[in-house]
Amino acid sequence: MTYSWGKPDKRLIKNGKVMCPFCLKHEAEIHKTLGVLKCKECKKKSKDYRKEHPEIFNPTRREWVPDRIKEDRVKNFKGAIQPYREGKINREFVEAYPDRVEAMIKEGAVTREEVKKSKYQLRDLKGWYKRNQTQ
Ligand SMILES: [Zn+2]
Repeated sequence: MTYSWGKPDKRLIKNGKVMCPFCLKHEAEIHKTLGVLKCKECKKKSKDYRKEHPEIFNPTRREWVPDRIKEDRVKNFKGAIQPYREGKINREFVEAYPDRVEAMIKEGAVTREEVKKSKYQLRDLKGWYKRNQTQ
């Protein structure tokens, strides 16, 4: 299969299929020009992107993370970068995944203006300074 919009993220490919970047459970919908979109299930569940990801937009629901996982996160900092913190898109994410951000803009999940104004919000995370050398 050829992709006119560039190859999808390697992590999304399972058994030769491109998986939904939101749930990783179902096959993603492939748009001719936009590339990888969320699967039908995810679309059905909610049309409201923010409602769909309360863990991203609800800062009061902080997760507890064991040390072992924290170390993994340092090693895989880039791969663990979340798109949002407290409702604002992270500049770290914008820099790490320009293609995905572009698709999110097209999908209406975020505006170009928000992306332009994005700030580094993950500086307090261990491994931040080496984020560009990680996966
Ligand atoms: Zn999905």
